[in-house]
Amino acid sequence: MGDASSLTTFERRESEVRGYIRAFPVVFDSAKGSTLVDADGREYLDFFAGAGTLNYGHNNPVFVRALIEYLERDGIIHGLDMATSAKKAFIEAFETHVLAPRGFDYKLQFTGPTGANAVEAALKVARRATGRSNVVAFTNGFHGLSLGALAATGNSHYREFAGVSLGDVTRLPFDGYLGAGVDTLDLFEKMLDDPGSGLDLPAAVILEAVQGEGGINVASAPWLRRLRQITADRGILLILDEIQSGIGRTGSFFAFEESGIVPDIVTASKSISGSGLPMSLVLLRPEVDVWEPGAHTGTFRGNNLAFVSARAALETYWTDTAFTDGVRAKSGLLRAELQRLADARPDLGAVVRGRGLMYGFAVDSDRTLARRVSAEAFRRGLVIETSGAFDEVLKFLPALTITEDELRRGLGIVEESLDAVLAAGGSEDRTLVGASEATD
Ligand SMILES: *Cc1c(COP(=O)(O)O)cnc(C)c1O
Repeated sequence: MGDASSLTTFERRESEVRGYIRAFPVVFDSAKGSTLVDADGREYLDFFAGAGTLNYGHNNPVFVRALIEYLERDGIIHGLDMATSAKKAFIEAFETHVLAPRGFDYKLQFTGPTGANAVEAALKVARRATGRSNVVAFTNGFHGLSLGALAATGNSHYREFAGVSLGDVTRLPFDGYLGAGVDTLDLFEKMLDDPGSGLDLPAAVILEAVQGEGGINVASAPWLRRLRQITADRGILLILDEIQSGIGRTGSFFAFEESGIVPDIVTASKSISGSGLPMSLVLLRPEVDVWEPGAHTGTFRGNNLAFVSARAALETYWTDTAFTDGVRAKSGLLRAELQRLADARPDLGAVVRGRGLMYGFAVDSDRTLARRVSAEAFRRGLVIETSGAFDEVLKFLPALTITEDELRRGLGIVEESLDAVLAAGGSEDRTLVGASEATD
């Protein structure tokens, strides 16, 4: 390893907070589609896609071209939240390709560029619109790490760093949390209607239709419809956090679409710009748009480069069903292959769950296995992450543009890695994972 690939600069100078660098300890240098290249020229297949930020692949040539042209004509890069032609074109494309075909009537709020920024805005406006403070969030939900969003996030690993109390959120069990036979909404409904339950009437309920960081837990369509009914009947706003599950990830633009519900508020970020440039969006039903001018401001609410690639993404992939048809076809392959991996190793008791190209291979019988397989797969040239409260879920999140060949190749690496880890035996064995010694 030459100096270009050395990690000592990061170890010397970057905060201990650094995370993914520990699981994938190389210096990445370039990327295209589903391939990452490190500073030594070694290639890695990407099954992580920036945690769902790169649904259209790395450096998608359509977006790169649009961005270069925009830069070369001196298109405005920063404009606070002033009107720009790039923003106008994005809004019009969003109306044409997302809102109109679905019959949605949402106002668009552009927040600061991170997902947490969008969640903060969504919670704030919901509290303002209802005059109530309590919010219901679910077990294993992930909504970001700024204080308001963190209060709605379940994972104690993140919560314990808050340093202040995380209030005004009531946690309830997500769909499936108490096993397949229990409809967890029975509890919610009973608590809402019982003045002795201790549950303050919430301003809003926030959830992911498919939980990403929490272990790829899928809310069923009937459960979502019942939740919509419960909330609508009582004037509780329903917020769908589509930051990870959205923008085609589950086979439709938003993951909630399959259920037919219409949320009051929707948050989008990660893949909304298409290119990986930071951008966030909050969709508000017009009655919920109770903001006053400038009441929720911020410097970076107009990332015009992001608007350029976001518009290109909508106009390239969302004018017909070819893109989502492709996602569904690859989804069938992914599910079948994962189920085959699980069935061939019954002792593991692995559970395959997910939708679209968002799948988990959950191994509760050995909660260190997924982490070890991820490390071994990286050694063999595949970037794949884990999720779940114990990191017990191997998480499949490839770019939606991945080819069937690449998908099969990556799945082959996963199978080899799984077998290598199982052959090495012992949940504490670290000999295979030298490259990830620093992983938490
Ligand atoms: C990633 C994520 C967030 C937070 O986004 P950041 O850009 O990391 O702040 C919120 N909600 C969900 C569902 C996410 O996956």
